[in-house]
Amino acid sequence: MSSYRIPFNRPCLTGKELLYVAQSILNGHCAGDGPFTVRCSEILERELGVCRALLTTSGTHALEMCALLLDIQPGDEVIVPSFTFVSTANAFVLRGARPVFCDIRPDTLNLDERLLPSLLSPRTRAIVPVHYAGVACEMDQIMSIASRADVPVVEDNAHGLFARYRGRYLGTFGCLSALSFHETKNIICGEGGALLVNDPSLVERAEYLRQKGTNRQRFLQGQVDKYTWVDLGSSYVLSDILAAFLCAQLEQRDWIQTVRKRIWDAYYEGLHDWAKENGVRLPAVPADCEQSYHMFYLLLPTRAARDALIAHLKARGMLAVFHYVPLHLSEMGQRWGGRPGQCPVAEQVSERLLRLPFYNDLTPANQAEIIEAVCEFRC
Ligand SMILES: *Cc1c(COP(=O)(O)O)cnc(C)c1O
Repeated sequence: MSSYRIPFNRPCLTGKELLYVAQSILNGHCAGDGPFTVRCSEILERELGVCRALLTTSGTHALEMCALLLDIQPGDEVIVPSFTFVSTANAFVLRGARPVFCDIRPDTLNLDERLLPSLLSPRTRAIVPVHYAGVACEMDQIMSIASRADVPVVEDNAHGLFARYRGRYLGTFGCLSALSFHETKNIICGEGGALLVNDPSLVERAEYLRQKGTNRQRFLQGQVDKYTWVDLGSSYVLSDILAAFLCAQLEQRDWIQTVRKRIWDAYYEGLHDWAKENGVRLPAVPADCEQSYHMFYLLLPTRAARDALIAHLKARGMLAVFHYVPLHLSEMGQRWGGRPGQCPVAEQVSERLLRLPFYNDLTPANQAEIIEAVCEFRC
């Protein structure tokens, strides 16, 4: 339990989670690929228009499946933003790939597509953009650079479910993409994720990999009379109990997104003038991006100001947090040759970024308190 009066995050229910979980236990199908998994996959496939949506045990595992599906081999290079969660890179490093760290754009904090040409090499086997805070990367440029170099794009869309770029859903650009339903995301089931397959030629193998390298899916569909070991794989299937929880959340996706938009807009309105007076930058959302309202961050003028604002809020019982340690400066990143100065924007942002409390049942009264506390603070 958080000792803060206003925590940073809280898993929030939408109404039917407990009912569906009880149903999934009582209907005798607790393992994966039961009725609730089917319902979740159908919602994602229909709404996003993807070829196949496969629920997985986590977003990290969905990314690991991407690395397996692309046959990433030792010595291959994979371009990832330095400013992201560990799994974006680790899923590929696990296959022996070398992570090539790309700096981020100062406006959206997304992978800076202008740097891609200088990072591509004959060994590049994937580009993995992350739609930070659910605001799209410059997908037109990224897709055209990737297609000219004949390199597949895998979207880490852990933040951006139901966000769009030029009208098109994030997660539908790359041949593969990963979603996360970790309790810190917009739509949750505790731990969970999904692999979105946009390239039909990858669907069959994705099903094998997810089911321990077997053709169980074809067996269940009556296409083969026994199932057996046909490929690499692991246990990436989400329990139907968690899919039941997720199903309740997915059915309420419009409500969740509406509530989160209201919270995001209230922060933006409430902090706009204060930010201007104090040299603080609020999130930038380009006109061609419909964001997912995943988080609300502030970019303070200095690290000292950022740390002081966290302490100021803490003294009032409010938890604000920061992230990420740039991957190229992490212990692992340095083993891959990461060094200070390599991604200067990521380095600066990492020192100056602060995330405000953000969860679906943050009350207007509590949010007003947070805004008031921030506005008391002078940089
Ligand atoms: C949360 C997150 C992941 C990993 O998702 P899990 O479901 O926690 O494994 C990957 N990438 C990014 C950018 C994330 O925020």
